[in-house]
Amino acid sequence: MTTVRMMPAWRLTQFGKPPELQQVPVPGVGAGEVLVKVAGNGLCHSDVGMMEAGAVAPPFPTWRLPFTLGHEIAGWVEETGAGVSGFSRGQPVILVATHSEGTCAYCRAGQDNNCDESSAGRGYGRDGGLAPYVHLASTRPLIALKSLDPRTAGPLADAAATSMHAVRRVLPRLSRGSSAVVIGAGGLGSFAVQLLRALSEARVIAVDVNPARLDYVRRLGAHETLPGVGEHTAGELRALTSGHGAEAVLDFVGIDATITAGLAAVRRTGAYGLVGAGMGRLNLPWFHLLPKDGEVFNFTGSTIADLSEVVRLAEAGRLVNDTERFAFSDTLKAYARLAQGTLLGRAVVIPEG
Ligand SMILES: [Zn+2]
Repeated sequence: MTTVRMMPAWRLTQFGKPPELQQVPVPGVGAGEVLVKVAGNGLCHSDVGMMEAGAVAPPFPTWRLPFTLGHEIAGWVEETGAGVSGFSRGQPVILVATHSEGTCAYCRAGQDNNCDESSAGRGYGRDGGLAPYVHLASTRPLIALKSLDPRTAGPLADAAATSMHAVRRVLPRLSRGSSAVVIGAGGLGSFAVQLLRALSEARVIAVDVNPARLDYVRRLGAHETLPGVGEHTAGELRALTSGHGAEAVLDFVGIDATITAGLAAVRRTGAYGLVGAGMGRLNLPWFHLLPKDGEVFNFTGSTIADLSEVVRLAEAGRLVNDTERFAFSDTLKAYARLAQGTLLGRAVVIPEG
């Protein structure tokens, strides 16, 4: 008789409720599959969105409750199934956060964050990284780490890679003398500031309501910071950009005020990217407000290429990834700190801690 090994996992049992610590079996490994020992799992605002009072199930038929939360995962390869090559036991790895199956038109074009299966990622309707082990159906999401510590690398998989997706999208517009605005200097925005500095010659302007966040991103390379978001913001941004507006505005908040100010701060031919899921609305005549000859876009998640590029920059020491470590038993405390906005770096839960 085989004994089933059990492990603790922080699982969402109901939308609108905090996760519960439950015992679940350690997943078995079949042909082509991989078991990863979780070194650290970063916590994300989207997790909080699922557990906050009033949260409802998203309209995805593949989601099954309960499931283990956590999608910012790094660790070590624990076990590989028959036929797996390129990865061996003990190897440090980071997991691409957005799920994709690899064969559809989007995947083949390198647009894998748009894959038809992308709504069913680890920690999103399927078991994620808030457990000692996480199961992968294939090696597709694995990226090898060289010098980075897998205990703290997890946030690169979503916070940094999603920012990379936004920044890559606007890079062709950012020649010397141009300006890029980052609205929201939180977990994602602070990576966006760094990526814009690392990959472009644009002047980077960060906007946030929290002065401590603005001090932080100034240390990370923002040239200018603007406190608060309101009716004055678009005018202030124009004043900082010779009256023309910015070549690119990336909005990591996405509420009414940031959408309105952000769009009004884009110059003609510029781009506005909506990343933050604040579910804001734009109640103004679009004809006059959209950037003339410009671009407005949104997206979710990030691609394998985005994370590969993030890992390359981080391994080269060009990306600061400040984290605050929490023991596995303190996961709810860490989520509370995230919800209160009192973290400076990204919260990382260490299963062995
Ligand atoms: Zn696909």
